[in-house]
Amino acid sequence: MKNEGMYDCIGIGIGPYNLSLAALMDERTDLKVRFFDKTPEFQWHPGMLIDLTDLQVPFIADLVTFANPQSRYSYLNYLHNHNRLYKFFFFHKFEMPRQEYNDYARWVVKQLPHCQFHSEVVGVKDNGDHYEVEVYNRRTDEREVYQAKHVVMGTGSKPLIPDDMGGHPSEDVHHTSRYLFHKETTMDSPSITIIGSGQSAAEVFYDLLKEQKEHPYKLSWLTRSEGILQLESSKLGQEFFAPDYVDYFHSLSFEKRLKALDTLDQLRNGIDMDTLNNIYNILYNHSVSESAPDIVIQPLTEVNQISKQGDHYALSCHQWQEEKDFTYTSGKIILATGYVPNIPPWFHDAFGDRIVWEDEKRFKVTRDYKLVFKDEEDRDHHFYTVTNLEHSHGAGATNLGLAVDRNIAIINDICGEEVYKVQRHTIFSQFSMDEYPS
Ligand SMILES: Cc1cc2nc3c(=O)[nH]c(=O)nc-3n(C[C@H](O)[C@H](O)[C@H](O)COP(=O)(O)OP(=O)(O)OC[C@H]3O[C@@H](n4cnc5c(N)ncnc54)[C@H](O)[C@@H]3O)c2cc1C
Repeated sequence: MKNEGMYDCIGIGIGPYNLSLAALMDERTDLKVRFFDKTPEFQWHPGMLIDLTDLQVPFIADLVTFANPQSRYSYLNYLHNHNRLYKFFFFHKFEMPRQEYNDYARWVVKQLPHCQFHSEVVGVKDNGDHYEVEVYNRRTDEREVYQAKHVVMGTGSKPLIPDDMGGHPSEDVHHTSRYLFHKETTMDSPSITIIGSGQSAAEVFYDLLKEQKEHPYKLSWLTRSEGILQLESSKLGQEFFAPDYVDYFHSLSFEKRLKALDTLDQLRNGIDMDTLNNIYNILYNHSVSESAPDIVIQPLTEVNQISKQGDHYALSCHQWQEEKDFTYTSGKIILATGYVPNIPPWFHDAFGDRIVWEDEKRFKVTRDYKLVFKDEEDRDHHFYTVTNLEHSHGAGATNLGLAVDRNIAIINDICGEEVYKVQRHTIFSQFSMDEYPS
């Protein structure tokens, strides 16, 4: 058992959100902090680090720039350190390759000794005026206990696998989050089917389309959606991902927030225009040849079940507009069925009865990312969360562009002063009548 005195803050998970917090705390505060991640090292969605895919936000949404453009942990400083600044200059593009984002984040991790990997947080206990954080160290096989005034949960998301689609060998049926780990064996199959139509589905379809001339499988893409549709990316539309909109969204009632999420669906779901153009480009070019690779793209189609049949899989499908059922067969299946917030298993036992919930799955969160404890207005040790925020902070909850603004709010709240400047009135749109001059 380890006990190292009182930490000001412990971070659970080291994905981009908490890594940004760790970097910003390191640069401007004297806080005693520690961050834990259960994986052996930082890897950003490694199963989806596909060649030639880009980050879907401009590089300014790195881990620190929105708080401090002069930070030594900025992407531009990473480029400068790696003698790549001129290459990026001539690259002439705002979106860095996804593999480079991973490399940049790993470069930041290396400079932050208080980030500890191989370490799973297996319990958090409220001790009245601080938290006790229990960590299972996978390297030493030991349990460690840490005391912290504040805790920040940044445990990210986990793959969503519908009930009737799971339970098959993962080399045959797997979620896109595992795509690259199985890619080689997937391509040996005579037929591959992708289910779903978000960005991940499109990236996997594109990647397999590029390989199809060398590996002549039949490639199918089935989705329940009305079409293979583009993500809304207009400039004014993107202003919904600014902190000003988060202020507005958070001030609405729970019911109005849920409705707003529905109406802003095109901002959250859909495929980036470049990816769609790349896909069409290959489809068109391949179609010139009479022996064009075998492709099926079918929207309006719900897949309800996957079952093993001999050496292949049978997909029970329903074309919902025509109301027709049919069975589709495939050798390998890739589920692009999305993600859900990853709430650690100990969370409900530790806090379920003590905090305020907006419904059975969604806890109430203050504007500055604190869980709300029942009857405890004078609480001075806080449990912050940057996970499961869509219902409280809007469509940008999982957008890297807002991570730094979130962390500014958390740091300023913990320190009780404006360590980093809060930026507001930053965009052209306004949302609330309260903003109009009388
Ligand atoms: C494939 C993919 C691509 C994306 N691309 C973009 C993009 O281009 N632009 C954008 O704005 N957003 C993107 N997103 C959405 C979002 O920005 C990312 O998911 C981002 O990684 C979220 O960061 P995070 O820190 O919340 O979580 P994660 O990156 O999921 O990290 C959470 C970490 O917590 C650790 N952890 C979990 N539980 C514990 C525990 N009990 N103890 C210790 N550690 C634990 C996990 O090991 C993990 O490392 C993408 C999402 C996916 C899935």
